[in-house]
Amino acid sequence: MQESWYERFAETPDVLKSARHPRTVVAALDVEIGGDEFVTMAGPCSVETEFQLMATAHHVRRAGARILRGGAFKPRSSPYGFQGLGAEGLKMLAQARQETGLAIVTEVMSEDDVALVAEYADILQIGTRNMENYALLEAAARSGRPVLLKRGMVATVAELLRSAQVILDNGNPQVILCERGIRTFDTALRNTFDVAAVALLKLISHLPVIADPSHASGNREMVAALARIAVAAGADGLLVEVHPHPDKALSDGDQSLDFSGFDRMMDEIDPYVALRRMAQPGGETRLPYREETGARVMEAVG
Ligand code: PEP
Ligand code: MN
Repeated sequence: MQESWYERFAETPDVLKSARHPRTVVAALDVEIGGDEFVTMAGPCSVETEFQLMATAHHVRRAGARILRGGAFKPRSSPYGFQGLGAEGLKMLAQARQETGLAIVTEVMSEDDVALVAEYADILQIGTRNMENYALLEAAARSGRPVLLKRGMVATVAELLRSAQVILDNGNPQVILCERGIRTFDTALRNTFDVAAVALLKLISHLPVIADPSHASGNREMVAALARIAVAAGADGLLVEVHPHPDKALSDGDQSLDFSGFDRMMDEIDPYVALRRMAQPGGETRLPYREETGARVMEAVG
């Protein structure tokens, strides 16, 4: 890696790639993110009903997803929008994990809820609006769970790395970076998918990088295209919204794929995933875990 990247991102030395630390692989249940396998995380924007969640979980698993997403605590643009089922939604997610074996990623919005969410989720999601909520970042880091950190919608790459550094500094190296689209002058789509950020983060950081083509586009007709682009740019995985009846979704229906749309997306990314496998860089850092009283505790990284 060029010396200049170290100078430009000097504030975040631990998240930068080095010969000693070329790659971090984050483990959740039986899934490794940032390793050789491309990992698709899929599910509804919000957990709404048991039927909606279970039907989606079974479908995305059959189609090749490895992790189930679903929001129980929802950050809504409108105070009058559906705010999520809270603890009841977390229990449904745990039930879906039980039935399908899929690992669970779900958003935590408040430091007060970290312990509760960490009890049910395998990965804690920090949403775009909370990327700079340092109290939340610290609490999430200390939970010991892997953290999926979404880029703030008006955050630079350096700011994203700074927030990742906060999580590392609080004793948790299991961070997954997520490009989910940023605000620009162009309003044709909900956000502007910064694909260069995916390529740049893969170049300069050892942390896994995933892309969220659903929030990046805001439009289900664009999701598969952005997913293909993300894989080609070097992403380690995707976070995609899927709903049995997107038109009836309580949140983000416009950008949610139905089941056949998800199948098509998975088929479309297949050749890109195959190419990616051929281009895998060597070397990786594996993080060993042991289970202790139900919590994941990280052992010293060797
Ligand atoms: C979500 O994943 O449903 C979500 C709210 O994402 P973001 O924080 O990127 O808007
Ligand atoms: Mn959403």
